[in-house]
Amino acid sequence: MSSASFRRFSILVVGILPIFFCSLNVPLRAASALAAWSIGENGVLRLRTKRDADLKAFFQPSDFQSGERVWIDFPGELIRARSLKGSGPIREIRLGKPRTGFTRLVVEFRPGIVLDPSKLQLVAVSEDRWELAFKGLPTYGLFRIGEGTLQSPSWLANSRNRSVPFKRNSTNVDDLPEVKRGIYRVVIDPGHGGPDPGAVGIGRLRETDVVLDIALQVGRLLELKGVKVSFTRTTERDLDLPPRVALANRLRASAFVSIHANASRSNKASINGVETFFYSGWKGKALARNIQQQVLKVSPGSPDRGVRQGRFFVIRRTNMPAALVETGFLTGSLDAPRLAKKSHRRRLSFAIAKGILNYLKEVN
Ligand SMILES: [Zn+2]
Repeated sequence: MSSASFRRFSILVVGILPIFFCSLNVPLRAASALAAWSIGENGVLRLRTKRDADLKAFFQPSDFQSGERVWIDFPGELIRARSLKGSGPIREIRLGKPRTGFTRLVVEFRPGIVLDPSKLQLVAVSEDRWELAFKGLPTYGLFRIGEGTLQSPSWLANSRNRSVPFKRNSTNVDDLPEVKRGIYRVVIDPGHGGPDPGAVGIGRLRETDVVLDIALQVGRLLELKGVKVSFTRTTERDLDLPPRVALANRLRASAFVSIHANASRSNKASINGVETFFYSGWKGKALARNIQQQVLKVSPGSPDRGVRQGRFFVIRRTNMPAALVETGFLTGSLDAPRLAKKSHRRRLSFAIAKGILNYLKEVN
């Protein structure tokens, strides 16, 4: 990108857009605190932000589907989500809106690139300038990439001595909470199955397929943590509701978790979100709350539809604390493309397993 287009970008951000919003007479949302960014050939990420912006930084280790990722959240909303192709060790840079009022800059590395999260530090070098050096990153084939101009007026150049620590956002089994091994049994219930596909959403995406994949992964993760797991079904087969309940009651399970995906009544693409149901008891509610909390964390932008009481047969007739999680809307324009992705289902599985383990720790 030439320096002329850098300049155009920054003028666009600071000049035209506030006017644009005012003229439409919509409530003015704060513009993104991110003004410019670049990654140099030396593998250093530089940022220019509003003065003393409150930034949050995250690290996500690689999983089977994607490489390691680092992202930074900025207050204020981005105008247009976009992704840019990386070079060398960097696969892609994405700028998005994780939730209302925030901007997220994601750097995704190619599979096989390993970062040391203990050495990641986002350092404020002045009131409005930041640096993050990816120490040890092989820079072969890396070209400078960036948007906006990093230079700031000299009166802002007071030095700063603070840094933002990176939080680890992991789908690594070792990072799941520990519970006492061999004493809990959890029944995992993938909704629907066989001739009953459940909800069918955008792109003919079927609930039964989505929830079976998630459920099997949740079970495996729990087993790796020493929890005994039983599934109501492990294949694409027909199964009524009473035998699901009977299995859990016969096994005297510690918890029962039914996994579903939602559809809105009129297939409205604008309806998205996560909700978790319980039927009764503070333990059922605690189970639902723990699951909801974790699922929301891996579903940025998807609305929190809350922890709610529901009269679904499988949570009403089971004798143990029970929850039913709706992992997103197969008919929703935000949720559906995500639920179709194996990497998102992996994150959902991790989140549900984490919620269940947190619950077991909390109530026992
Ligand atoms: Zn369902």
